[in-house]
Amino acid sequence: MRISDNLTLARCLEQNQDIIFVFSMTKSLKRAGHFRRKFMSDCFNSFKSELEDRGFTVLATEYCFPDFISTFFQTRTFNSIYCTQEYSWEERQEELLVQEFCKKNDISLQSFDQGTLIAHNDLPFSLENMPFVFTDFRKKIELELNIKPIIPAPFSHVQNLGMMRLNHYIWKTHAVQTYKESRNGMLRFDDSTKLSPWLNAGLLSPRTVYHELKKYENEVCENDSTYWLFFELLWRDYFKFFSLKYGHRIFMTKGLSSSYYSHQNDTKNFEAWCTGKTSDSFINACMNELNQTGWMSNRGRQNVASFLIHDLGINWTWGASYFEEKLFDYDPDLNWGNWLYLSGRGSDPRARKFNTIKQAEIYDPQGEYRQFWRSPNEYP
Ligand code: FAD
Repeated sequence: MRISDNLTLARCLEQNQDIIFVFSMTKSLKRAGHFRRKFMSDCFNSFKSELEDRGFTVLATEYCFPDFISTFFQTRTFNSIYCTQEYSWEERQEELLVQEFCKKNDISLQSFDQGTLIAHNDLPFSLENMPFVFTDFRKKIELELNIKPIIPAPFSHVQNLGMMRLNHYIWKTHAVQTYKESRNGMLRFDDSTKLSPWLNAGLLSPRTVYHELKKYENEVCENDSTYWLFFELLWRDYFKFFSLKYGHRIFMTKGLSSSYYSHQNDTKNFEAWCTGKTSDSFINACMNELNQTGWMSNRGRQNVASFLIHDLGINWTWGASYFEEKLFDYDPDLNWGNWLYLSGRGSDPRARKFNTIKQAEIYDPQGEYRQFWRSPNEYP
């Protein structure tokens, strides 16, 4: 849903005259709660008006794309489909169905890989040989860094909200200069970039963030913080390619491990976690923020996930599914990848257990966050 750095859009416009844009629901979007649906719908409506202003037809459908396309084909002939590749298993199954449909009906299908910083084909290793652990992945990437330039916008366009947020964070406030120190903050809007919703909805490409960062480093300041934002974008790529490699396994309770996984299906404790009614006021505040806004900071996500998995002993996939419904920046690869990682059944065999009491002391020393998001009758 962007005009700039969008290879799918650029190629489609270069090669065709009569184009219809289709936005279809993924199965995951059907599972989304109020916040993500609203966010996606707002993003879509603004992209739609931008295209309609240029005279294009834009359709939105509640059907998944393979279902939509086979019905649509009965009423209208077309010879090509252009789409953007996804990384996670369920979305890739849909893409396979579209491939089959195109083959059967002699339609050309062009699908572009543009959701990551480094495209799949530009990785310095094959997917089979992708390093298992993040640090090895990062080191190999950094050794032969190959980030392509941005694809220019095919026509002039209004700056979207994702670009506005990036400009605010980098150029207007220079908050990027202190990103490394502030990124674990939980209460202030500029503590971290808040770019994830825009990146995941596709309004902003990670490459755009990278090139703006480089420009800032060349023209204004280069320090540990500017590097750290790039470092976090590599985590994003890592989880995307991890998901591409391991497919449906990252969604399974046992994860990538064959060892026994002891957990309880304790619905009462799970309900308490979901609704911010556990014995831990820090966890409750995080869950209250999530339930009321669709957002939680990275520090909060790590703590509530650790609490669910290691303190309550509940199946990690329950927590990941709850996040899928609630987070408005939900991304299948990043969400399930991070949960799996924290459960110790992914690429880090050491289960990541956080001492949530200590974490609250470090990251919310004055209790401001807990006070702001407190549950009724809790925390003075
Ligand atoms: P910043 O700190 O400003 O980071 C900049 C960008 O780097 C982020 O927008 C994101 O794209 C990337 N990034 C940062 N941290 C991570 C990380 N741990 N893993 C991968 N990429 C990262 N992120 C999502 O976008 N969608 C999710 O559904 C999601 N679920 C998560 C679930 C759990 C249990 C955990 C621990 C993390 C999850 N994350 C998810 C990663 C991270 O929490 C968010 O990307 C981050 O909090 C978004 O805020 P920001 O854009 O201000 O991040």
